[in-house]
Amino acid sequence: EINANTVTLGACVSHAAIEDARMPDATHGYLPRVASGIAYRAVRNRGTIGGSLANADPTADWLSCFTALEAQILISGPKGQRTSSIDEFVTGAMETTLEAGEMINGVRFPTLSKGARCGYAKISRKPGEFADAIAAIVHDPDNGRCRIVVGTTNGVPRQLAIGPLALSASTPLPQMLNSGAVREQLASHMPATDVYDLNIQCAVIERALANAHQVAS
Ligand SMILES: Cc1cc2nc3c(=O)[nH]c(=O)nc-3n(C[C@H](O)[C@H](O)[C@H](O)COP(=O)(O)OP(=O)(O)OC[C@H]3O[C@@H](n4cnc5c(N)ncnc54)[C@H](O)[C@@H]3O)c2cc1C
Repeated sequence: EINANTVTLGACVSHAAIEDARMPDATHGYLPRVASGIAYRAVRNRGTIGGSLANADPTADWLSCFTALEAQILISGPKGQRTSSIDEFVTGAMETTLEAGEMINGVRFPTLSKGARCGYAKISRKPGEFADAIAAIVHDPDNGRCRIVVGTTNGVPRQLAIGPLALSASTPLPQMLNSGAVREQLASHMPATDVYDLNIQCAVIERALANAHQVAS
């Protein structure tokens, strides 16, 4: 469901349905791009948004993708209905605030403006495998939003702190971040990370920014 302010997807929507654009896409191709990179087609035919979010696997694609979109999780259970921001919903690796008897009904995120730019990148050892590094960016200066999210942190997806430059529509995305500062932030988010992991996390962020820039150009 798409209205003026929000887009809502039901929990049972499969990855393949999004990949095939069987419903209107309000994300300038961002969701279909992410969906098409999840595992391989047999998994995408069966896997659902609700199942993926309930699993809260740090290496899952929707988790980082929807965190960048500032999504809300729609939940129902014995005590009624509630809505939780995805930031509060995921509490750790494969841990959420879902209580016994609760179900995810869907996911809702703010409508993007025409000028919004979205990018996504992941690094996996081979195609179809869960990612070793994930980065997602949603840059929507007309709505005052910019999120750069790093997945695969062994815990919750992490947002990078970004400067005021990030909210300018004219800033070329690849130049938005200072790579030294990014490295420092990643090292503090993931203190146990070795140099190899830090390197691929930095590389995947650059690729996500380049992806957003390329798609928008
Ligand atoms: C071989 C393989 C490779 C994969 N590779 C990737 C990958 O690269 N990237 C990626 O993101 N994912 C990957 N996945 C995960 C896959 O995409 C699915 O998201 C995941 O398997 C969940 O599947 P499902 O939607 O059928 O949920 P299920 O398997 O049915 O459920 C998973 C869990 O969530 C619970 N659940 C399901 N729906 C809801 C709901 N609506 N409300 C509350 N709880 C619910 C179930 O009770 C269960 O505990 C992979 C899976 C496999 C098997």
